[in-house]
Amino acid sequence: MTFATQPNASHFVNGAYLEDTAGTPLEVIYPATGAVIATLHEATPQVLDQAIAGAQAAQRHWARLSGMERGRVLRRAADIMRDRNHDLSVLETYDTGKPLQETLVADATSGADALEYFGSIAAGLTGEHIQLSGGDWAYTIREPLGVCAGLGAWNYPTQIACWKAAPALACGNAMVFKPSETTPLSALKVAEILIEAGAPAGLFNVVQGAGGVGGPLVADPRIAKVSLTGSVPTGRKVYASAAEGMKHVTMELGGKSPLIVFDDASIEDAVSGAILGNFYSSGQVCSNGTRVFVHRAIKEAFLARLAERTAKAVIGDPLDEATSFGPMVSETQLQIVLGYIEKGRAEGGRLVCGGNRIDKPGSWIEPTVFADVTDDMTIAREEIFGPVLSVLDFDEEDDVIARANATDYGLSAGVYTRDLQRAHRVIARLEAGSCFINSYNDAPVEVPFGGVKASGVGRENSKAAIAHYSQLKSVYVRMGETEAPF
Ligand code: NDP
Repeated sequence: MTFATQPNASHFVNGAYLEDTAGTPLEVIYPATGAVIATLHEATPQVLDQAIAGAQAAQRHWARLSGMERGRVLRRAADIMRDRNHDLSVLETYDTGKPLQETLVADATSGADALEYFGSIAAGLTGEHIQLSGGDWAYTIREPLGVCAGLGAWNYPTQIACWKAAPALACGNAMVFKPSETTPLSALKVAEILIEAGAPAGLFNVVQGAGGVGGPLVADPRIAKVSLTGSVPTGRKVYASAAEGMKHVTMELGGKSPLIVFDDASIEDAVSGAILGNFYSSGQVCSNGTRVFVHRAIKEAFLARLAERTAKAVIGDPLDEATSFGPMVSETQLQIVLGYIEKGRAEGGRLVCGGNRIDKPGSWIEPTVFADVTDDMTIAREEIFGPVLSVLDFDEEDDVIARANATDYGLSAGVYTRDLQRAHRVIARLEAGSCFINSYNDAPVEVPFGGVKASGVGRENSKAAIAHYSQLKSVYVRMGETEAPF
């Protein structure tokens, strides 16, 4: 192995690496080979306490800086991330197994975009002046919340850390971030870079561990806000715990999103959208369009082209830039996906391609397409979080909209059609937070991202995120005498 993956220590607290070997060992596995590439330790209660206390102290100082000063640090961090994109991408590939072809363009680069965007708008964050009758007036002050807890999923470790840290820090908060125990490496680099960019020690801390660390972090009374990217069941637990302390929350949870392909669509583009929305990151993307509703008139042509193009996936060494399809993040996730494929077969789905574990070390599975899937099948109802694409038939617009909405989830939705009026009409009726017309899964930082229904609460990215990392103080100013009834 030519790349050093073992970090200096498990945690990053108060501006420096910190180790406490009393914590349960945490093996980091390269999913492409199954090799152990690092061994970290879960945070002990002492480490967690130091991280939260350090964040509290740093936040008091950070909040007193102007937005301009805070923004400068974030923009410097964005530049450093871009300069180191190659090394960070290699690390992300080791951490997640995602091909370098992807990590070079979708991870540290997306993190840098978030740091640059929120660094750029930090100076413009203000309250407002409100003129009232009789010459009285009021003003609002946009205040930080305090110390925020960030909890990350394993699919986009660098991106998730930055999507949470950048708006939080821009608003004057500090953060204690807990990556997924499956992918603990990249967030440590984000912490290092922020320090190098001039962030005060303690402003962004990383503690390792599973739910046993995340739980106490969320429940700690010093935490003012919790932002989770994870599954719906975890979201329910974390939201309930945050509610006990009346804390702010952002919940970016799972989905079972519809991608609707009408009979006038460009089949080539729609197949591209379906591939992007099911096989990128080996299907481990929350917003994936896993229920692909295809109009019956073009269904066979769509399936034929989809199978042809799926056969062109380059499945190989993720560190080779020619590879376009990598392993699942872990053996556990692989087994979950294989279980769903088995259910798809047993419940009557027609396997068009894939469906098998790939016989080599690591957690590899073929990109898989099922046709003739019906709404009641398990693979059409539950989030799989793997490369399993289900094609469902439809004939009528009203019917497909009703079926697309018949789910507890509401993260994303997509429509492929050349009829612009239909595109907007259908999107307006779909119950989803992040939607696409003749495209799928674009997530630029300028655009709000998040779900409705069980898929989440709040929005990440864009100016909308500011509302979720700050609070308004209203100040009423009377210019005349104070009147009282007695
Ligand atoms: P999990 O819900 O299992 O975990 C998310 C994070 O929460 C992890 O860091 C996890 O720690 C931690 N955690 C688990 N239990 C608790 C608890 N009781 N208290 C506090 N923290 C806890 O998600 P996965 O990591 O398995 O990621 C997959 C899920 O994430 C999918 O459902 C996917 O749809 C969703 N997701 C949503 C996205 C969005 O933006 N909407 C984006 C990406 C993924 P650990 O894992 O270390 O135990």
